[in-house]
Formats: sequence, structure tokens, C-alpha cells
Amino acid sequence: MDQLLQQIEEYKKEITAYSSTDEKSVEEFRIKYLGTKGIVKAIMGEMKNVPNDRKKEFGQVLNEFKTFTEQKFESLKSQATDHRQSGSEIDLTLPGDPVPLGSRHPISLVKNKIISIFQRLGFAVAEGPEIEDDWHNFTALNLPEHHPARDMQDTFYIQQNPDWLLRTHTSNTQIREMEKGKLPIRVICPGRVYRNETVSARSHCFFHQVEGLYIDENVSFADLKQTLYFFVKEMYGEDVKVRFRPSYFPFTEPSAEMDVSCFICGGKGCRICKYSGWVEILGCGMVHPNVLENCKIDSDKYTGFAFGMGIERPALIKYDINDIRLFSENDVRFLRQFTSAV
Ligand SMILES: [Zn+2]
Repeated sequence: MDQLLQQIEEYKKEITAYSSTDEKSVEEFRIKYLGTKGIVKAIMGEMKNVPNDRKKEFGQVLNEFKTFTEQKFESLKSQATDHRQSGSEIDLTLPGDPVPLGSRHPISLVKNKIISIFQRLGFAVAEGPEIEDDWHNFTALNLPEHHPARDMQDTFYIQQNPDWLLRTHTSNTQIREMEKGKLPIRVICPGRVYRNETVSARSHCFFHQVEGLYIDENVSFADLKQTLYFFVKEMYGEDVKVRFRPSYFPFTEPSAEMDVSCFICGGKGCRICKYSGWVEILGCGMVHPNVLENCKIDSDKYTGFAFGMGIERPALIKYDINDIRLFSENDVRFLRQFTSAV
């Protein structure tokens, strides 16, 4: 009996000294001490040889020894787990998990191209709010209440305040730039605009525009034409022809629509240009004196030109897309096609 107690003390020393951080030797520890043929079991088997009057005393020692061994095993096991998680066994040569690359939206691609062309001509980018008041979206642009041209730009109104609406063009940004009173002004205004229109393959209740504004002394229609000629050559190539057609906008006078010879068929006539050989690209004109005066700019001293174009249409043509709704449906199968587009 005393010999047994001594043996247990020896084992406890041995167990205390046992150290390991790898899972294999932790398992060896378990088999050696706690396994079915292990030391703890073997000593328990000695119980039958202990005299009855000392069985209680020995039982306590035995239980304590068993708990001691189990606790050691648990601590060895958690040390091994910590060790593994700390990274010493991570294989740094394994290939990493692939990170899928996103791509620019086709609207952004076209918008960025337009912006970069005008930036080279010294135009700065200006942005304005999409929720606008009546003054900045209509009235200041020579579109007073009940003006018939407002019918062509029906939009959405904010319920709490009938004076607030979703802007129908980015011209509100031009008004805000002019109101700042710093001249000359040379800005382009990209952004999202809204119209109360039925959603179909060809039109949507929201779309994107880039507008431009140049105001200084002695700005003439010749400056407007040269600026837009440069833009067209950069955007659609050297061979593209340009024509201006007289038009009407309340905020410019004179006003024009600008067409370019169809860059798909080269002017021969195709589905894109509706067999006319020409594609309408933008509207433009000299800023109406009333607009300048509304923004407290002296219209006798300053003149300026403005232009505006949609982004969706050139993007539809450039990437041969047949439905404008695809731009806003967020279908990744559609968007993935532009991964390598420029
Ligand atoms: Zn064509």
C-alpha cells in the first residue's frame, strides 16, 4: 500500500514535468496515463489488494490522482491547439483564396471618358443635389411656372414640400455655380437626373447626364463649336462628321442640336441611326441673358455657352446594348461583361 502511494507520487512528478506542444505527443500522453490500458486504470486495479481499513484513504488519493492527470491532459491539449492556431503550422506556400475583381459600370466608363476629355480643355467637375427646389431646376433657367416647356420635363415631387423635386437635368448645378458669383466659369456637371416617364427598353424614369457651362467675356458660338468639335474627335474619332441643327431650349438662345455621322455604319445608314446616317448626341446653345441675370451676372458684359448630353445613349451604342433597363438591374451576368472594357 505505501509502495503504491509512493508510486503515485513518482507518476505525479513525471506528469508535472511532461511538456508538449504537438498533438501527437499529447495523444501519447493520453494513451499512456488515461487509456484503457493506461497507468491510472492500472493503479485503480490495485484497489482490490488494499486492506479494507485503508480502502477509503486510498480511494481519495486515487481520485485526486485521476483528476490531476485529466487536468494535465486538458491543459496539454489546449496548448497544442493554441500553438497550431498561432500559425507555426500554416503552409505559406499554399495558393491564396481568389478575390473576385469587380468592374466599372458601363455608365461610369462612358461618363469618365467624357469628363477626361473636357478636363483636358480646362473644365472642372461640379456636382449638385439630386433633390432640388423649383428655382434651381426650372425658374432660374428661364422656365417660369406654367411655361409649356415644363411639360417635356415632368418629374417627381417631394410630398412634404411642393417646392422640392427630383432634378430633371444637371442644369441646377450650373445655376448653383453661377450663383457663387466667381467668374469666369468653366465646369462640367455629371450626375443622375429624373423624369416622370414610363419605363421601357428605350427610356427610364432616371438616367445620367453630363452638362457643360462656359461663361466669360467675349465667349461666342464659335467657341462653342470648337469645343464640341474637339470633344467629338476625342470621343468618336477623327473621321466623324458633325452637324448643328437649329433647336429650341428656354435657357439658351440661339440653341442647337448636334448630330455626328453614325460611327457604326459610317453614315451609310443602319439600325442604330435609323437609316439616317446621323446620331443625335447633344443639345447646346448660348446661355440666355435671362438666365445670366437670374444669377446676378451682367449679361451685357458676359456671355457663355452650355451643352448637355445623356450618357445612356452613347453607352447603349458603344457596347451594343439593346435595353436601357439593364443598366440599373444589377444583374452580375450583365455587369461582368465589362470587366475589361474601357
Ligand atoms: Zn448608322
